[in-house]
Amino acid sequence: MTDAITKQNLLDLDREGLERFFADTLGEKRYRAHQVMKWIHHRHVTDFNDMTDLGKALREKLGAHAEVRVPQIQFEKPSTDGTHKWLLAMDGSNAIESVFIPDKGRGTLCVSSQVGCGLACTFCSTGTQGFNRNLSTAEIIGQVWVAAKHLGNVPHKQRKLTNVVMMGMGEPLLNFDNVVRAMSIMRDDLGFGLANKRVTLSTAGMVPMIDRLGEESDVSLAVSLHAANDELRTELVPLNKKYPIAELMAACERYVRRKPRASITFEYTLMKGVNDQPVHARQLAKLMRAFDNAVQMKDAGKVNLIPFNPFPGTRFERSDEHDIRAFQKSLLDAQVLTMVRRTRGDDIDAACGQLKGQVMDRTRRQAEFRKRLASQSQSQDPEATDAAA
Ligand code: SAH
Repeated sequence: MTDAITKQNLLDLDREGLERFFADTLGEKRYRAHQVMKWIHHRHVTDFNDMTDLGKALREKLGAHAEVRVPQIQFEKPSTDGTHKWLLAMDGSNAIESVFIPDKGRGTLCVSSQVGCGLACTFCSTGTQGFNRNLSTAEIIGQVWVAAKHLGNVPHKQRKLTNVVMMGMGEPLLNFDNVVRAMSIMRDDLGFGLANKRVTLSTAGMVPMIDRLGEESDVSLAVSLHAANDELRTELVPLNKKYPIAELMAACERYVRRKPRASITFEYTLMKGVNDQPVHARQLAKLMRAFDNAVQMKDAGKVNLIPFNPFPGTRFERSDEHDIRAFQKSLLDAQVLTMVRRTRGDDIDAACGQLKGQVMDRTRRQAEFRKRLASQSQSQDPEATDAAA
């Protein structure tokens, strides 16, 4: 028997990599790679023996050199509103979450890019869990594979999974190569066949990597802003110390200039009394207008307001509905295209910033957060916050 460890997991390869594997390792024609991609991504077949249009000899060769290893579902939870959450085992001790959110005429899968996150945004549940490691390409595209199989997705036919957002656990631009490769499989006709603009990468503002993304990929970009002044943004997104707003906006300008007609979505999580006051809306409107002017395009910057989603132990609260409306109106009055993202999957803790998974933390952050939580409330069992949602 061949040792499984030496086998190439085909989910780690995009079309180009798979063609190379077929040519160089197997000594086969490249088009064979295309057949295999279709079996894996269109028909959700992982056993080479079931790939009936491949000859027996090729099936045996594949069995000896390769495998299709998909993430194992540790737990899954449907919500009453159609949202569906998966906890996927990533190895012996780590697990990540992905969430499917159906909405009028479309279905969005929220995909994780890392086990935990190193950025420690103060209002994000994943941020309190510390960081373990980057996900492989197979582990990222595997989340789409699991969801597409569950939903009975058939590319190019009527399909339930129409959009992917890299907005789960982790900072995707800190796992650049694996994320870009996985996004290429998402958009490949032999993969999941999603249109470029239906794949969105969300970043907390890794400036140099925004430039690289602009050069190497062609997906929609979302930027987590949350405040339009540096002092407040640094409090919420510590990465702002390294890449302050002016540098971030300059990178966004370069991104949009490189791609005709592209726009950027600026995410702004509304937290009561923190960043939801009229003065904050005015600062944001000014920043957005300056952005549109700089790239000379109307609506180059769009704002997505996210009412804060609470999690155990957080000191933040969701803004009042009245303030959310007023904030949106203030931006709309200033000619800034502004949407409010309504929370789905509330009953299964599947909303933005609530994804937890299981992170074997390599930093000290999880322990520190739990200590703080325990001292805040003696009656609360700190272990309870660590349970997989
Ligand atoms: N690291 C990436 C992607 C992950 S988070 C990024 O920062 O963009 C996806 C979005 O959810 C981000 O805009 C993030 O700031 C937001 N978010 C995080 N925690 C949240 C919470 N508790 N409530 C609402 N939105 C939150």
